[in-house]
Amino acid sequence: MSRIIGIDLGTTNSCVAVLDEKGVPQTLAQPDGERTTPSWVSWSPQNQITVGSRARRQAVTNPSATVYGAKRLIGRKVNADDVSWFARLAPFRIVAAPNGDAWVRINGQPVSPQEVAAHVLRAVRKVAEDALGEPVTRAIVTVPAYFDDAQRQATRDAGSIAGLDVVRILNEPTAAALAYGAHRVREGRRIIAVFDLGGGTFDISLMSVDNGIFEVLATGGDSALGGEDWDRRILERIVDEVFDQYRVDLTGIPMAMSRLREACENAKKALSAASETTIQLAFLANDQHGAPINYERTLTRDQIDAYTKDLLERLEAPCKRALSDAGLEAAQIEEVLLVGGMTRWPTVQAIVERIFGRKPSKGANPDEVVALGAAQYAGILAGEADDAALLDVTPHDIGIKVGDSAFAVVVPRNSMLPVRARRLFATTSENQTFVTIELWQGDASEDGAAQLKRKLGQVILDDLPTGSAGSVRVELVVTVDVESILSVTARELRTGREASVTIRPSGGLSQREVVEIIARRRRETHSVLSHLSEAGGAVRVTTREHALSEPDDPLPKK
Ligand code: AMP
Repeated sequence: MSRIIGIDLGTTNSCVAVLDEKGVPQTLAQPDGERTTPSWVSWSPQNQITVGSRARRQAVTNPSATVYGAKRLIGRKVNADDVSWFARLAPFRIVAAPNGDAWVRINGQPVSPQEVAAHVLRAVRKVAEDALGEPVTRAIVTVPAYFDDAQRQATRDAGSIAGLDVVRILNEPTAAALAYGAHRVREGRRIIAVFDLGGGTFDISLMSVDNGIFEVLATGGDSALGGEDWDRRILERIVDEVFDQYRVDLTGIPMAMSRLREACENAKKALSAASETTIQLAFLANDQHGAPINYERTLTRDQIDAYTKDLLERLEAPCKRALSDAGLEAAQIEEVLLVGGMTRWPTVQAIVERIFGRKPSKGANPDEVVALGAAQYAGILAGEADDAALLDVTPHDIGIKVGDSAFAVVVPRNSMLPVRARRLFATTSENQTFVTIELWQGDASEDGAAQLKRKLGQVILDDLPTGSAGSVRVELVVTVDVESILSVTARELRTGREASVTIRPSGGLSQREVVEIIARRRRETHSVLSHLSEAGGAVRVTTREHALSEPDDPLPKK
């Protein structure tokens, strides 16, 4: 049996870890020493694929075929609010697959986010294989706690396409808590908060750990808030200053923008430890007279805080909502764990301390802690590390819509699995012959309005007995098992007539499509290998044909 690796498949960066001989989790580095791989994939016009830092750098010269943030699209419909938001922002095209899923269009070809994620997974798998010197075929992959069934299944499918057997999908906050050793504390039930501010997203999770048993109590966050927003604020400021001083618009000079973006991020990182730094960029662009602009500016931490005041303020509300969802007071949180590179920012840490009334724990490297926890869990599964059990909860409300009625929650979000819920309702018209019950996943807000996210399926109960409106009553039983498989039974109470349906999670790609992508990938690899042997080293990937039909029109751009 090959070793199980732990993979943090991130929105901006991914990381892989494994247990060493002493049973201690270690992240694995690329040959250049980097322990995280940017989750970026770039296609050349000849469909040659690049992943990681090199792909990220190509974003400037090849923006329409360089994809980032595939995690925002995986298992999602194109018309979801935050997908539309991302589509307006992204320089590559996000299109609708025939089933409405969000895909990307690269060099005129539709590509599923599962395939994009598979390229990243394959890259980190290679990092692991090179570092370990042995083949790797099994992995634990982490996902945000709020990922729904479709997003989890789509992540598994990405693993299959990358040649990995995903033995378990693990919640990121659980992985972080494992890495911090929360499962080793044997002193009864403890409540912890995992505060995760990465490059593109902010997630807050409240969990309980009781003698090695983890339970997610509530999740929240802001999927449009992350470290890149801080970089963008600094960048916008400098672009304006350069325009005021030199009357030169840097936004029209891709190479200058790329250098500036990198310099802004580096300055931010430096300022998380120092209070002042200097940005120096020789020959950034030419001024109106053709003379070079040698840009130089000092930047302080206080200035960045002033530019990003509103971003900092957006950290509080999701934490308060998660606390209220879990029915907890901030004072009941016994430990706050920091995850995500942006939590190194001192003002972020100060805000965490203000919200939860205690200093956050900083014992682990926030960029690597999720992968380390996944490796730790791999050890637990393989019996190499201490025992811990994980309990899953439903990440969203599951409810029904009957006829034109409003969404009614049947299984509230954060219900512990397995769960069974019953609901009774009555016909609304005289001699109604049938009733259609639609099952939806959504989030009911405090004011009762529901944001429907995904239709899961429907049950039709027909041949209802005759009777006046309201006299025929139907009982609905919804169960969700530990594998997130949903069963729904509707039963008319007078006759006992019933109809039921079982809904398994689907990531959007059918099993046949996953197998086809794997086969196509094999053909491509074979073609590259034969080309390599013919051409003596030049790598060229043959043009990809696509088994699926063309997607619908792309979303309108801004
Ligand atoms: P992650 O998604 O966890 O890899 O986090 C990446 C984000 O963390 C990026 O926006 C980085 O710029 C940011 N980051 C990494 N190191 C630091 C640091 N020392 N100070 C501030 N932000 C950082």
